[in-house]
Amino acid sequence: MVDVAASLQTFHAAAKSLQSVAQAAKALIEQRDESKIHAKVTELNSAIVEAHSQLLTAQTAALAQLGRVKELEQRITRLETWERERQRYELTRLNPGVLVYSLRPGMANGEPRHDICARCYEDGIKSILQPEHSTAGIKLRCARCQAEVTHW
Ligand SMILES: [Zn+2]
Repeated sequence: MVDVAASLQTFHAAAKSLQSVAQAAKALIEQRDESKIHAKVTELNSAIVEAHSQLLTAQTAALAQLGRVKELEQRITRLETWERERQRYELTRLNPGVLVYSLRPGMANGEPRHDICARCYEDGIKSILQPEHSTAGIKLRCARCQAEVTHW
């Protein structure tokens, strides 16, 4: 899940730390007392380390979210492609009652007539059934899920 709110909180914390760095640096510049300068330098270093740590955390979160967004975009593209592709097929009953998805007339786009596996279709995958002729009829086999249907 993309947690944008958590990422924004991390960036806010990093910005706050950087504000502390700026305040510590300003206080350091205004100091004249050697011991106080040393204390302010220590405070400044701590603030810089804290800000750096928070920025690294924020960067890591942002990169993870970017990866997730890219993954989701690819998934959407796959689903849209499948949605267009599945419209080219219709559920067909072959003798003696086996069901396959057949290429709709007028939707061939230059492809030869063929059937695709009903099980794989339900999984959102196009898998063309390959025919094997036998004495019992024509056996259609799905290379992906190994489903077999015999019809005549
Ligand atoms: Zn299949």
